[in-house]
Amino acid sequence: NDGIVVAEQEGEDNILIYANPAFERLTGYHSDDILYQDCRFLQAGDRQQEGLTAIREAVKTGAPSRQILRNYRKDGSTYHVEWNISPVRDDKGVIRQFVAVQRDSSERVQAEQERALLARALNAANDGILITDRDSTIVFVNQAFEALTGYSAAELLGQPTEMLRSGLHEPEFYAQLQEALSLGHNFRATFINRHKSGGVYYAEQSIAALRDESGQISHYVGASKDISRMVQREMELRERANRDKLTGLLNRHAGEIELKRNQLQAQNQLRPYGVILGDIDLFKQVNDCFGHVAGDRVLKMVADVLSGKVRRYDHAVRWGGEEFLIVLSDASLGVAAGLAERIRCAVEECADPEVGRFTISLGVGLWEPGETEDDLLKRADAALYRAKHRGRNQVAIATGSMNMPLVHAPELLAQGDSLTFSGKSPDKPWTGAASP
Ligand code: GH3
Ligand code: MG
Ligand code: MG
Repeated sequence: NDGIVVAEQEGEDNILIYANPAFERLTGYHSDDILYQDCRFLQAGDRQQEGLTAIREAVKTGAPSRQILRNYRKDGSTYHVEWNISPVRDDKGVIRQFVAVQRDSSERVQAEQERALLARALNAANDGILITDRDSTIVFVNQAFEALTGYSAAELLGQPTEMLRSGLHEPEFYAQLQEALSLGHNFRATFINRHKSGGVYYAEQSIAALRDESGQISHYVGASKDISRMVQREMELRERANRDKLTGLLNRHAGEIELKRNQLQAQNQLRPYGVILGDIDLFKQVNDCFGHVAGDRVLKMVADVLSGKVRRYDHAVRWGGEEFLIVLSDASLGVAAGLAERIRCAVEECADPEVGRFTISLGVGLWEPGETEDDLLKRADAALYRAKHRGRNQVAIATGSMNMPLVHAPELLAQGDSLTFSGKSPDKPWTGAASP
């Protein structure tokens, strides 16, 4: 099947003296057309090829040579051919002829060119591209994927894709991925993966199955877009939207969401939650006597007390101007009342250099079955009102809903529906006492 020619050296020329039928088929020439001609007609005018230089060198030294050349058929079309050239020597060892065997490698060269083109195209893509085999072993990554993950191709190839996991997805996430892919469906999701440096990145990734000629899934290809900056920005915006600017506490909107979350949890699992409503005492006078800036400082100090005193899973909220709400997840009335009292004491200990001391009154309520969050807030607010009415700087416990007994804190019930812990009150108009 390979074309075979024999050429004889005459000075600078290599004169063709034999060509087999396969060579004729390969080139479209009939032997009669080409015999006794110099071989260079095969490259037409295309004489600057690298392989040709190597062949000329080999012919000079008599070393065997194997080179791929771009040749031209009789009709002018090109084909790639692997020349395998060997010298034929006479009795005295002088090179007389060359035998050249030519194998058409057009398909191979074309396939290589296509592969190189595809690799260049994939590397030019902005999106990270990952190809795995059926068992999720990485077999190809483009440059954008290397940049996305921080790993080099050498570090990724042959590794399972698990190496990229951050541990921040629920197991169901990967179960869904597996299921979609095993059914041959595309899977698209935001992946939270771990960068080589240890940080996480967010990638919008779509994964599709690749099938072989028989229709069996052989590989998976994933295209990832890095959306870390967008996600980061979104989280910052959401965080900012949930925070009160002055105090850094959750704002009312976020507080309402937190309340609702606790309410649902309480309803579903009958796990009571508590609320504490706090209101700074005679705060209007702080503003009136010392101005808004001083008032804001006091607000900030009270907020810092709340942040410092609440448990890790409680939420402190700036509920209104100088009103605060604490939502206590999974609490008893005793825990809530204890926290309220600690807050009252801590606020009492605070002093502003200009304003001096200030106090806070607090109403505490514990959710009871059948109650909405608004019902609970109303009861806590009524308790707060009683605390104010009884002289401020004190904690009052809400009565049970519909005057039901306080089932969760019988020890507190004995002391009555509104419970005063302690505290003296700056009940008289603000004196502006700057000294602690
Ligand atoms: P009480 O002990 O009965 O609660 O008396 P109070 O003076 O605290 O009650 P009142 O509700 O009359 O006053 C609340 C004041 O809080 C009125 C308002 O000017 C002030 N206030 C509300 N929001 C802010 C704020 O963001 N900064 C400052 N400096 N003052 C605020
Ligand atoms: Mg108020
Ligand atoms: Mg007040």
